[in-house]
Amino acid sequence: MMLAIQPEETLRSFVERTLLIKGKHSSEEVFRKFPRWATRVDVLKIADTLGWFGCHGLNKILHRHTNYPLTAVFKNIQDVSYSRGEYLSYSRWYDYNRNPSGFCPVCVAEDIERLGFSFWRRAHCLKLNVCAEHNVELVKRCPACDKQFSHGGHDLGVMWRTCKGRHLKDSPVTVNTDPFELKKAQLFTDILSFTHHLSEEAVLAVLNEKKIHKDAVFEQKIWNSEPDRHWGTEIERRLGIVKNCRSENSLPPDQSTDLIIQAIVETYESFADFVWDVKAYRDEIRPIESLWSTYKAGDQESPHFVEENYKYGVGVWSCPFPAKRNWGVWDWRPVYYPCCNFERPKRKGPQPQPVLVENAPPGIYIRY
Ligand SMILES: [Zn+2]
Ligand SMILES: [Zn+2]
Repeated sequence: MMLAIQPEETLRSFVERTLLIKGKHSSEEVFRKFPRWATRVDVLKIADTLGWFGCHGLNKILHRHTNYPLTAVFKNIQDVSYSRGEYLSYSRWYDYNRNPSGFCPVCVAEDIERLGFSFWRRAHCLKLNVCAEHNVELVKRCPACDKQFSHGGHDLGVMWRTCKGRHLKDSPVTVNTDPFELKKAQLFTDILSFTHHLSEEAVLAVLNEKKIHKDAVFEQKIWNSEPDRHWGTEIERRLGIVKNCRSENSLPPDQSTDLIIQAIVETYESFADFVWDVKAYRDEIRPIESLWSTYKAGDQESPHFVEENYKYGVGVWSCPFPAKRNWGVWDWRPVYYPCCNFERPKRKGPQPQPVLVENAPPGIYIRY
């Protein structure tokens, strides 16, 4: 029987907990062979064992058990997929065993009271310093031996064992006194658990109005801030690109959302206040789950998407925002597929030929 993954639990925590409870030899291969760098393929295998299949399953696990929402919550309005082409890609990794994990001793004690065991939470394995719920400092090193909770230090199994006879739940609790650290932790937690996508254009427009002056630099740093960055100028530049792409019906290139998150931390007291302003922009606020079954397929001048339909086991192709001009570069001609176009074009020149499809998209399962 499969163990249940806990709300907010990281993939690696779930893997390590399964190996410990079920035993290394009797656990499924996907757990035994979970690599140091977990890619889409490894994440999909874990999703499969949970009964979460296809593109929907990948996005469900990315949204609930990784930090991917920090990217996905801010979404271009013309992007109808949760994670763009991640379902087809092999490049990105979502979990790395050298990223240090951490825990809140109060959360751990409460879990043990409630469930009989604890686990590693995704927000506590980010480089945050405080638990947003309890306002206590996160423990990033073993209180008994000072090792980090990552490759080269303790493996995550120490959560369910002890170190030098000490259990992690007995770690000393230090109350946080830095309001900025608490605000930062709450903002990240709010983004991770947010239920809707916010329009990228609305987000940038709202932040653009907030900037104090063009040369403003971030005063309060989060971990990956570039110290001398003139964020006002950068937000304005990105807003220009996004607006231009919208008018042309092309998707802007993927950009890190670090700048957006940093700008929100800098200018708002809470994520709820920010969302309030973004809603006033009146772009559609789409529920997160509504985009889980759809992935972006193909990078041409217009974004193309496939929505998986699990009732019939078919993919529904669409190009909801066809490019308004072809930039003078492409010269697309209609393609006739012998299987779909029963009436053959009566013209000279090349006629339809059966061609083996390369890199075919994945098959779609049927949910009975
Ligand atoms: Zn806590
Ligand atoms: Zn230790």
